[in-house]
Amino acid sequence: MIINDQHYDIIIVGTGAGGGTLAQKLAPTGKRILILERGIAMALKDQNPAGVDVLKNKRYHAPEQWYDQSGEPFSPQTNYAIGGNTKIYGASLMRMRDRDFDAVPYQDGIAPEWPLKYADFEPYYTAAEQLYQVHGDYQQDPTEPHHSEGYPYPAVDHEPVMQPIVDAISRQGLHPTPLPVSLNQQGDDPTGDAEVFGINPALSYDNVTLKTSARVVSLHTNPSGTEIKGVQADVNGQPILFTGQVVVLACGAVNSAALMLVSANEKHPNGLANHSGQLGRNLMKHQMTVIVERAATPNSGTFPHSVSINDFYWGDGDYSYPMGHIENTGGLLQDVIFAESPPLLSVLAQIMPGAGLKQLAARSIGWRAQTGVLPDPNNRVYFQNGKLRYEFTPNNTEAHDRLVYKWLEVLKAVEKTENLQRSGVYPRGEVPLQVVGYQSGTCRMGTDSTTSVLDLNCRTHEIDNLYIVDSSFFPSCPGVSPALTVIANALRVGEQLMHRMGA
Ligand SMILES: Cc1cc2nc3c(=O)[nH]c(=O)nc-3n(C[C@H](O)[C@H](O)[C@H](O)COP(=O)(O)OP(=O)(O)OC[C@H]3O[C@@H](n4cnc5c(N)ncnc54)[C@H](O)[C@@H]3O)c2cc1C
Repeated sequence: MIINDQHYDIIIVGTGAGGGTLAQKLAPTGKRILILERGIAMALKDQNPAGVDVLKNKRYHAPEQWYDQSGEPFSPQTNYAIGGNTKIYGASLMRMRDRDFDAVPYQDGIAPEWPLKYADFEPYYTAAEQLYQVHGDYQQDPTEPHHSEGYPYPAVDHEPVMQPIVDAISRQGLHPTPLPVSLNQQGDDPTGDAEVFGINPALSYDNVTLKTSARVVSLHTNPSGTEIKGVQADVNGQPILFTGQVVVLACGAVNSAALMLVSANEKHPNGLANHSGQLGRNLMKHQMTVIVERAATPNSGTFPHSVSINDFYWGDGDYSYPMGHIENTGGLLQDVIFAESPPLLSVLAQIMPGAGLKQLAARSIGWRAQTGVLPDPNNRVYFQNGKLRYEFTPNNTEAHDRLVYKWLEVLKAVEKTENLQRSGVYPRGEVPLQVVGYQSGTCRMGTDSTTSVLDLNCRTHEIDNLYIVDSSFFPSCPGVSPALTVIANALRVGEQLMHRMGA
C-alpha cells in the first residue's frame, strides 16, 4: 500500500449534502483539507434527465449489490458522484417542524426526542437556505416553524397546468404552499446541489484537495482504539493510506455505517465506536407513494415540482397522529422517484412506444405522499459473509395509508367541484426497497453513549477524532424531506470543528 506523504488537518469522506457543505464551510479556515470521493463529476446530460427514458430505464442505480432481509440482491438507487445524491435529488429543501424535535406520539410508538431543539437548528437552517439559494414562501403553511429570516429568493411560479389546481385545492380549505427549492439560476443545470454550492466554492481555496475515484475502504485506529490514524482508500484501483488530524465521514447513512462496521479491529470488535451496539441500526427512510392524476389539459411532462401541502402533517379530525407531507412530483417524465414506483405508466412503459407514452405522461400530473417512520433497531445494515445486508421493514404504515386516502379524497373533491379533470382513477404505487435516497439513522446522535453512536457534535462517543455529517445522525425520521437538515447540521458541526482546530 502507498502511504501518502501529506498530513492533513481534516479528511472529509464523501461530497454529498453533508460532506460538500462541510468542505465549503471549512475551506476559508486555511486548514489543509483532503476530500475523498468514490465517484467522479457527473456529465451535465446525466444530471437532468427528462423524457420517456426515465420511465423505461432504471436510473442511477449503483453498480453494486446490497442484500435485503430475504438475502435477495438488489442494486440501490444511489448516486456516487461529486455532489452525491444531491446531483439527482428534487432539491426541495424543507425545515423540520419545531415539534419534530420533541418526542412525538405516532400510532406505532413514540418518535424519540432529539437532544437538540428547533431553536438550536434555526440559525443553521437560515444559513443553509442562504447557501443553497432556496426559493420559497412559507407564509401560507400553518405547520412552518419560525424563520429568523425569510427565504433569500421568492418562490417560483407554478407551472400553468398546476396553478388552477393549486387554487382549487385552496378552495377546499387547504393551504397549498410553494415548495422551497434550491435553484442556482443556471439555465443548463437549474437545481442547486452540493457540488455547485459546496465543493466548487471549496476548491477555489488552495488548501483544499479533492481526490475522485477514491473509495475509502477502511479506517485504522491507534492501538488503544481512541483515534483514527489512517484512512485507507482505493484510488483508481490503487490502495493509498491517508493521514489526518480529524476524519469526517459523509458517505450517506448506509455507507458510513458500513465503513465503520467493516473497519472493526481488536479494540472495536463489532465495528468502530460500536460499544452501544447501535451502529448500523435504526435505519430509516420515508414511506412514499406516488399517485397519478389525469390532467384536463396537456403539459410538457417535464416541469418542476412546486407545491407542498402539510395540512395533514400532524393528523386530522379523524386521526390524531402525524400523517405526513404531500407534494406534486412535477412532470412525470423527469422524476426518478416517480419512475421507480410502478403505477400505470411504468407498466405501460414496457409495452408502449415512446411517442404514445410521452402523450400519456403529458396528460397526467403526479403527486407524492410522504410519511415518516419510527426508528427500529431491527431495521439495519450489517455485513454477513462479506455482503452488505440492508434490512428495512416500514412501520407507521396506517398513517401513510390514511395520508394516501386523504389525498385521493381531496383530488376527487377538487375534480367534482371544479370541473378541472375527471378520471376517477388514480393509479398509484409505493416506492420499492431499492429507492434508498431518503435513508437516515444508523449512527444516531444522543447524550447517552450506551444508546447512541454520536454525541451532540456528531463526534463518535468513543473515537476522539471521528465525526459524521451525513444523514446517519437522525434520531427520528419526520415526514419532511431530509436534505436541508443534513446541510444545516453540517454547517453546525463545521462550526464545532473550527472551534476544535482553533480556526
Ligand atoms: C432521486 C432522489 C430525490 C431526492 N429528492 C430530495 C428532495 O427533493 N429533498 C430532500 O430533502 N432530499 C431529497 N433526496 C434525499 C437527499 O438527496 C439526501 O437526503 C441527501 O443527499 C443526503 O446527504 P448525505 O450527505 O447523507 O449523502 P449523499 O448526498 O448520498 O452523499 C454521500 C457521498 O459519499 C460518497 N461515498 C459513499 N461511500 C463512499 C466511500 N466509501 N468513499 C468515498 N466516498 C463515498 C458518495 O459518492 C456521495 O458523494 C433525494 C434523493 C434521491 C436519490
